[in-house]
Amino acid sequence: MRRRLLLAALVAAAFTATASAQTAETILVNGKIVTVDDRESVVEGLAIRDGRVVATGTSAAMRKLAGPATRTIDLQGRTVVPGLIDSHLHAIRAALSFSTEVNWIGARSMAEALGRIRKAAQAMPRGSWLIVAGGWNEQQFAEKRRPTQGELEAAAPDNPVYVQLGYGWAVLTDDGLRELKIAGDADIPNAGRLERDAAGRPTGAVTGPQAAIIALFDRLPRPTYAQQVDGTRAFFRELNRLGLTGVMDPGGNNLTPPDYAAVQEVWRRGELTVRVAYSLNGQTAGRELDDYKTLLALVPMGSGDGMLRFVGLGERLTEAMNNNPRPTAADKEKYFEIARWAAQRGYGLTMHWGPDATVDHLLAVFERVNAEVPIAPLRWSIAHLNDASPKTLARMKALGVGWTVQDAMYFGGEAFVKQAGPDAARRVPPVVTADRLGVIIGGGTDAHRVASYNPFTSLQWFLDGRTVSGLAMRGPEETPSRQQALRFYTKGSAWFSHDDDQRGSLEIGKLADLAVLSKDYLTVPVGEVGDIESVLTMLGGKVVYAAGPFAPLERAR
Ligand SMILES: [Zn+2]
Repeated sequence: MRRRLLLAALVAAAFTATASAQTAETILVNGKIVTVDDRESVVEGLAIRDGRVVATGTSAAMRKLAGPATRTIDLQGRTVVPGLIDSHLHAIRAALSFSTEVNWIGARSMAEALGRIRKAAQAMPRGSWLIVAGGWNEQQFAEKRRPTQGELEAAAPDNPVYVQLGYGWAVLTDDGLRELKIAGDADIPNAGRLERDAAGRPTGAVTGPQAAIIALFDRLPRPTYAQQVDGTRAFFRELNRLGLTGVMDPGGNNLTPPDYAAVQEVWRRGELTVRVAYSLNGQTAGRELDDYKTLLALVPMGSGDGMLRFVGLGERLTEAMNNNPRPTAADKEKYFEIARWAAQRGYGLTMHWGPDATVDHLLAVFERVNAEVPIAPLRWSIAHLNDASPKTLARMKALGVGWTVQDAMYFGGEAFVKQAGPDAARRVPPVVTADRLGVIIGGGTDAHRVASYNPFTSLQWFLDGRTVSGLAMRGPEETPSRQQALRFYTKGSAWFSHDDDQRGSLEIGKLADLAVLSKDYLTVPVGEVGDIESVLTMLGGKVVYAAGPFAPLERAR
């Protein structure tokens, strides 16, 4: 409430400033600024003062706000969008290893992917691990297959190599298997096993349940603390290059409380270039409520600042309710106790859930909590739930629970069609229906293990419903307009961290978080949306990334 009053005061102050022609610090002119306001307005110019938007309108009107010290940025017709916000990105974890991992995101062939391994092998010391921790899928390669152990050995003969695919498969070179002391199935934790070819020979890959792959990853050496801090800065700058200025981080596998030190250090130094709103996972299986009470005793909801803020629990609260289609009454009771405790303390909550068929287990708990403590003001959310039924969406709407939607079908569409059939696939995910019902939707990716973090890959997928290999699965009835998809990725995502009154649209009084795009998002052929990048990203009116014609602003930042 206080923030809303503050916003009202700022808006009033901004109007006064415009009226008295107080000069702007920066003006943007000659652009096509997609404001994402309620009327989907597109304007030519925008003025910034004290990190916020103080005016929008014609270029001529903005020039009237310029004084001798004002920086004028001529957009030369380019399109500007509010800084993009991924509402479900495992950013803190991805950042830790960004400077030491090999990245296969966007590689179009096996040759290109192996080339990245070869290049890393040349750059890294002999014997150091080369790790691809996910973010790719065989469908993205022209060859439509996974790498073989032999190919990895040839690309990096002197380094152990580990390549993980989602949470079900990972291949290691012989050096890698030796270093992790894996000689047979018994050496792999949590019922993982060595994959074997038709002749019964091990292929070098490990398969098994998610827990096996998570435990396997935990055996790999961690980046040093200095590498984690470097990686964090580099990863957020990479997100700025793609127009992102905000993420919601839902914790994740292989991420424990000490792993938050690097992002905290970058924040403390004032070097964060993406606003991070993070939630905390349950820690010890079976003892999650005790852990939460200990870890959060001194951490009230919303603590932090506009750059790094704690926003509640999730996306995994208890191990027992994680990816479990048949939780027992006791599992649900434990979950209920945590959710009620969270509601009583005013915490946010985001929960990972897979299929609609079993989501009643979760919604019934939310409804039970809601009967004691209304949860709508807390803005809880469900992540994933790609096949949400209208009935589920109506229950979410009634509770005031939002929905964070990721482009999981970009990699997983073929498997979904095979399992559920093409008719069911036409409405996956049903974002148009949800939007019509008034369920708040946040855009996002779930990167970087199971998806690419590129927001334009996700935006293109929202618009064409095509998988990475080109299969068009979603029907027009669940295909949002370009403005609608952009709203999911900006104002929609901002809602989940209670920030939609601060950012997510370019309106008077809001933070000047924005991206100037390499191509016009509103008119470029839909197949080219995925190639868009930012050429100028601003966060609170400051340049955090600039390229091409705006590169001189990068040096001045
Ligand atoms: Zn999840």
